Amino acid sequence: MRSLVRVGLTLGLLVIIQPLHVNHFAEIIQEYLLAMQQDAIAQTPIRSLDDAVERCQTLGMRLSKQRRFILELLWQAQEHLSARDIYDRLNQQGKMIGHTSVYQNLEALSERGVIECIERSDGRLYGNISDPHSHVNCLDTQQIMDVHIELPADLLRQVEEQTGVRITQYSIDFYGYKAAQ
Ligand SMILES: [Zn+2]
Repeated sequence: MRSLVRVGLTLGLLVIIQPLHVNHFAEIIQEYLLAMQQDAIAQTPIRSLDDAVERCQTLGMRLSKQRRFILELLWQAQEHLSARDIYDRLNQQGKMIGHTSVYQNLEALSERGVIECIERSDGRLYGNISDPHSHVNCLDTQQIMDVHIELPADLLRQVEEQTGVRITQYSIDFYGYKAAQ
């Protein structure tokens, strides 16, 4: 009798647990597919303001007026700017935006890979190119220029052999002075 009760209980529990399991499993699969999809999206380079806007939409990011202002400015300027520069320039253009909004939007956009964020000793700078690239730092003007450099395959192989690390991306910092005209 006691074992019958136990069997009954076990069956009852199974009935309850199973649909939960199935749902949970479907959720995991769905999450995995979504992550794969977002990975594929993240690997496609953003090459224009339209691409950047489209990326926000694909990522389900709300495109507020302020967020659009920031993206427009970065694509117009094609420079690496601090949050303070961005705030000043937008307000000079008559596009009213608060400090907090600038910081929060820059944070959200760089976190999701829509814009670039570089850490410098004197703070963070933001740029419009978000896929891996290199920088030429001009020591005369403090300007940072974006360049796409492709290293020869045998050089990459040498680095891999020396370190045992498979290289998937790289970014080089060049420093120098403007060539005399
Ligand atoms: Zn850059």
